[in-house]
Amino acid sequence: MNPGKVAAEVLKTIGSVTLPVSPDRIAKQLGIQLRFSPFDEELSGMIFIKNGIPIIGVNAIHHPNRQRFTIAHEIGHYMMHREILTSEVHVDKNFPALMRDEKSATGTELIEIQANKFAARLLMPDALLESALAGKNFDIDDDKPLEELAKRFRVSKKALEYRIANRT
Ligand SMILES: [Zn+2]
Repeated sequence: MNPGKVAAEVLKTIGSVTLPVSPDRIAKQLGIQLRFSPFDEELSGMIFIKNGIPIIGVNAIHHPNRQRFTIAHEIGHYMMHREILTSEVHVDKNFPALMRDEKSATGTELIEIQANKFAARLLMPDALLESALAGKNFDIDDDKPLEELAKRFRVSKKALEYRIANRT
């Protein structure tokens, strides 16, 4: 399974993509309901299917960028791991380290890494990222360009750094 490809296909079905990508709109177009509630800090979100309707729960106390990533992550589970959602509520507490390599991961960890990859590709689509990066040099001592770019994509700096490191 290639999370990047799945994300690209989802983006294709919603038509023209402009920044910032709206995971809320994508969820709705996929027939997924969103529920925003205040949860414990370490709980990012969850996804389950009730009476045939997929429902994503999002922690409303988190930063809006984090909520966007959570929604995108849960959409990833819906697109790629639907078989596990039919029998249980999938709960995401503190996402496992983004940087982990798929090859060394197994089981639960693997699906989380795949969902993170999907989320990064959904919120930072290839073409838009490439054009945003064109001609830019990132200086490790100067955070500003990276911060500005993260603002345009409405993602955390950490998510952007991860995405740039995983461009291929
Ligand atoms: Zn997850």
